[in-house]
Amino acid sequence: MIGGVSRTSGGQLRLDGMPRRLFVCTPSRLTTFADCPRRYRMTYHDRPAPPKGPPWAHLSLGISVHNALRAWWDEPPARRTPDRAGWLVERGWVAEGWRDDAQSTRWRARAAAMVTRYAGDLDPAAVPRAVERTVATRTELLALSGRVDRLDERGGELVVVDYKTGRRPLTDADARTSLPLALYAVAATRTLRQPCTRVELHHLPSGQVLRAQHDDASLRRQVGRAESIATDAIAATEALGDGAPPDEAFPPRPGSGCSWCDYRRLCPEGRAAAPDRAPWDALGEGTADA
Ligand code: SF4
Repeated sequence: MIGGVSRTSGGQLRLDGMPRRLFVCTPSRLTTFADCPRRYRMTYHDRPAPPKGPPWAHLSLGISVHNALRAWWDEPPARRTPDRAGWLVERGWVAEGWRDDAQSTRWRARAAAMVTRYAGDLDPAAVPRAVERTVATRTELLALSGRVDRLDERGGELVVVDYKTGRRPLTDADARTSLPLALYAVAATRTLRQPCTRVELHHLPSGQVLRAQHDDASLRRQVGRAESIATDAIAATEALGDGAPPDEAFPPRPGSGCSWCDYRRLCPEGRAAAPDRAPWDALGEGTADA
C-alpha cells in the first residue's frame, strides 16, 4: 500500500476506503458460475464470443410458452380465454432446434394444449401485479437485476411465479432452495416497495404448483450465497487479469449437465463426462409421446 492506495489481487489500483464497484449480475449469471466456471467465462468474458452449438428444441418450447403467457395477460379481459392462450402458442411458435417439421408441429400442438389447460385454471380477472417485469436491488457487493415471469399480489403481498416447462418433476424443495426465486423476491420487494416472501414454480407439463415461504433469515442466507458466488467470480476474473491461465482461473466442472452445454464442442472434459445429445433429446420424445 502506498499513501492510502492499494492494489486489488488483479493489480488494479484502489483508493482505500472507497467503495468497490458493484458486481453487476443476474441470477442466471450467478448460477452459471456456480455450475461451471469455464462455461461462465465463455458466456460472459470471452470476446469475440465463442460459437455456440445448435439451438435446443426444449428452449424453443420454453420460449414459446413464456411468450404466449405474457401475450395472454396483455389481451383485453374478454379475450383471456383458455383457447386464446393455446392460439398464442401456435401463433408465436419458435420452430428452431426440432428434428423436422413433423416433430415441430407435433410439439406445437402439445404445447398449445398444455398452455390451454394451464390458462383454464387462471382467473382472467385476477390481473397480476406485473408480467415479465425486471426487478433490481443492491447489496454491499451486488447490483442485481432479473426478469420475473409473473408477480401476483395476494393478501397484500407479492408472490413470485416462475413458469417451468421441463420434463423433470419438481418438488417444493426446488422452490425453497432456488437461488433465482429468492433473489427475485428480494429484488421485487425493493423495486415495487411491497413485501415479497412467497415464491412458486408453476410446472406446466404436470399442472403442479410448487411453493415456498421465505422469511428474512432464509432470504438473507440466499443473498449471502449469491455474494459468495460473486466473490469467487470476481477473484477468478482478477486472477485472469493477473495472467493466470484461463483454465486455472475458470476451471471446467464436468458433469451430466455437459450434454446440454452450448460450449461442449470446445470442451474436452465436458465431452468426456456426458454423451452427445440431439437438440430435441431433452423432451424425451419417446416417453412423452406415449
Ligand atoms: S461442457 Fe461441461 S465442463 Fe465444459 S464448459 Fe460446458 S458445462 Fe463446463
